[in-house]
Amino acid sequence: MLGWSINLFRVFGIQLAVHASFGLLLAYYGWQGWQYGGLIGMLWSVALIVLFFGCVVLHELGHSLTARRYGVRVPRILLLPIGGMAEMEQIPRRPAAELLITVAGPAVNFALVLLLLPLVWQPLLGQVPVMEFSATDMLVQLWWGNLVMGTFNLLPVFPMDGGRIFRALLAMRLPYMRASWWAVQVGRVLALVFAGVAVFVYDSPLAGVLFVFIFMAAGTEYRNLLRREQEDAYWAEVARRATPVTPLEADPLPPLLPQRPD
Ligand SMILES: [Zn+2]
Repeated sequence: MLGWSINLFRVFGIQLAVHASFGLLLAYYGWQGWQYGGLIGMLWSVALIVLFFGCVVLHELGHSLTARRYGVRVPRILLLPIGGMAEMEQIPRRPAAELLITVAGPAVNFALVLLLLPLVWQPLLGQVPVMEFSATDMLVQLWWGNLVMGTFNLLPVFPMDGGRIFRALLAMRLPYMRASWWAVQVGRVLALVFAGVAVFVYDSPLAGVLFVFIFMAAGTEYRNLLRREQEDAYWAEVARRATPVTPLEADPLPPLLPQRPD
């Protein structure tokens, strides 16, 4: 399924790709815009989605460029209708590094919220009327979009950014696997609570489904982590057994006693 993607262009050497289902999203919003505002409405809606996903790319670049500072390769950023995904090599198990890499994504959204604020504070406070399908309308939508994106990602639901931040903070005190286990359990309980709130309080089954997906993703990521841990332990054992316990004649180590100068 994830294979159905189209490569766009490279940003900072990272391949940007969109999943084929992204076309459905554009078609849906284009059609909605057409219903409310004809051609202008359609173009405006499509432009808004493109700009919004531009912000998603900036969020993912926040993670990716910070990860690169720690020597982690980031071959691709993939855009899906539900958001973006920076595909990274394994992040080093250093809580401080993981914390910074994770925080950098939402930080980009909050930076955009601050940058856009001078342009939108008057319309936001109702001091200036906002025309439908205007540039101001679009800026206001993008402002809200970034505020929601930054805040939503900080919910401590693993494997979302907030959950990873929680794990990194735990991992400063606990062994890595123990910290991951706790982050996953807390995240799963919260994901179910948020799913319930979304469905029964906000009457939003779509958000409910999203949290159920996040709940399942937490389990998958934890199982992968466990498997990798077991594989690492296996190969460490293989390497240990393959290494002769006492190095023989070919020992390249220098003699222990200083040699007497002739
Ligand atoms: Zn993120």
